[in-house]
Amino acid sequence: MRITAAPLWLAATNCWVVAAEPGGPAVIIDAPPDVPGILELVRRSGVAPAALLLTHGHLDHIGGAGGVAGEYGIGTSLHPDDGWLADDLPAQVRLLMGFEDPGETYAGAGRYEPLADGAVFDVAGLRFRVLHTPGHTPGHCCFWLEEQGVLFSGDHLFSGSIGRTDLPGGDYEALMRSMAERVVPLPSETHVLPGHGPATTLARELAINPFLQALHP
Ligand SMILES: [Zn+2]
Ligand SMILES: [Zn+2]
Repeated sequence: MRITAAPLWLAATNCWVVAAEPGGPAVIIDAPPDVPGILELVRRSGVAPAALLLTHGHLDHIGGAGGVAGEYGIGTSLHPDDGWLADDLPAQVRLLMGFEDPGETYAGAGRYEPLADGAVFDVAGLRFRVLHTPGHTPGHCCFWLEEQGVLFSGDHLFSGSIGRTDLPGGDYEALMRSMAERVVPLPSETHVLPGHGPATTLARELAINPFLQALHP
């Protein structure tokens, strides 16, 4: 397996490109509003995108989805509970920036294939399991490559921290519950690749992350 990544846009959102083999088909995880940056990452990776999976509907993960899906002619998947976020990106720009048009262009994919908890996503020679992990947003999902021991954790779990829950639709109790039910039971050697910041492992987070320690004393 080959994973390449780049932190893109103002929020330094990690865009992940995952392929079973060098030069083969690939899955893109999250599309920050920097389409040229994503195209460059894909070009550098030397792979052929086959699908775009979105961890959640926040602007910094979805704002490039339209450009990426259009460029490669690929489907985009999002949990339906984040449809309200995807449907009004200008509202997110106003909320995040405090003004309407920062001179950038944002475009969601317009149409999303619905992700469902527990669903298995066989694509590009990889088997992703969808873990619905509400809390940061109602439709947040993590993507688990069980065979390879890798979890794409979006804005649910970070190295040393968890996703914020003070934005509209955020729910701290729900985040902690879905962490306990969906993430903590995974094998501790699982590599965790988050939506922002450095990679980590579940074992390390269980040892040093105060939010996980609260669940797993
Ligand atoms: Zn977010
Ligand atoms: Zn984010």
